[in-house]
Amino acid sequence: MITRTPAPLHTIAHEQRESPVSGASKQPPTARGDWRAQLRDCIRTPQALLEQLDLPATLLPGIRDGHALFSIRVPQAYASRIRTDDPNDPLLRQVLPLDAEMDVVDGYVNDPLEEADHSPLPGLIHKYTNRVLLMASGGCAINCRYCFRRHFPYEDHQPSREQWRDILDYLRADTRIHEVILSGGDPLVSTDKRLSWLVEALGEIPHLKRLRIHTRLPVVIPDRINDELLGWLGATRLQKIVVIHTNHANELDDDVAAAMSRLAAIGVTLLNQGVILRGINDTVATQTALAERLFECGVLPYYLHAFDPVQGAAHFTVSDTEACALMEALLEHLPGFLMPRLVREIPGRGSKTPLGSAASHVSVIASV
Ligand SMILES: *Cc1c(COP(=O)(O)O)cnc(C)c1O
Ligand code: SF4
Repeated sequence: MITRTPAPLHTIAHEQRESPVSGASKQPPTARGDWRAQLRDCIRTPQALLEQLDLPATLLPGIRDGHALFSIRVPQAYASRIRTDDPNDPLLRQVLPLDAEMDVVDGYVNDPLEEADHSPLPGLIHKYTNRVLLMASGGCAINCRYCFRRHFPYEDHQPSREQWRDILDYLRADTRIHEVILSGGDPLVSTDKRLSWLVEALGEIPHLKRLRIHTRLPVVIPDRINDELLGWLGATRLQKIVVIHTNHANELDDDVAAAMSRLAAIGVTLLNQGVILRGINDTVATQTALAERLFECGVLPYYLHAFDPVQGAAHFTVSDTEACALMEALLEHLPGFLMPRLVREIPGRGSKTPLGSAASHVSVIASV
């Protein structure tokens, strides 16, 4: 994930598909294999989403308001895994705006991570000593309603070629940095040409050991894991980690499993991070099914993020007490290596903070 504002994908032609789909085929004729076409032809309007999923138009007014705040964006590959005629489908709820998004809730802020304070250069966040986060793209293939970066000013963090050179100079100068994390938005929204240039340049910095890519694209458009990508990623001397972002087992169909196999075949270590979300994955059954399905796909659970208080998403909140109780119950259902770590990002810390630890309590109390 990581994770954003309704900034337009500047690399993508911007056309709205406002026309009703009545009578037309529900699957637009998107070329299979062409991920850029799939990115362009995604569902972008409340009407299109409801019609495709046979949902009642009575849901429309509330959805429109949420859409105006943070636009709907759902690739067809992802939409195809949503059950029709079920407003509570766990995948649908991740992309469908609700009235509740308009609620202004005390304590729910626009920049919960205070990331703006840790950006020495546009496009670079350096909060943890030996690893940095690069914003390699300003867009996402899907807009997740709970996104904790939905208010992040990505437009201000889109580095130009010149700024990329400054970032590379910064990385060269700080030999403590061992790992570069490509994030965004979603870094794989960028072109293979741009990414291959960047990754080649990173590979030439001697003290870098690892390249990590945080992305939801292999899940929402599995065709993104194409030959070009496997080419530049396979070529780097850096150790490679791809952290996908999945919250529910239904997101992982056979196409996603195949994409994971392609990455594993070039030596990529595969991890997943998710967010705990009320009504979507806040039960032992859903978390167990997710971990089991991830492992079938060759992916290990990494982080389960406690919910961040982002404005417009309060209705997804699972309390820390509930989340900790869930983790405790999960221990009986999963082998240790399939247990995600429940963490929270607390501003000012040098790492993520595991929930349930003394450190996390201090801060929770302090922030009340
Ligand atoms: C989460 C995060 C990282 C990576 O943390 P890990 O614990 O290594 O996964 C790095 N930089 C920033 C700013 C982050 O938010
Ligand atoms: S993929 Fe979803 S959760 Fe991740 S950055 Fe984009 S909108 Fe946020």
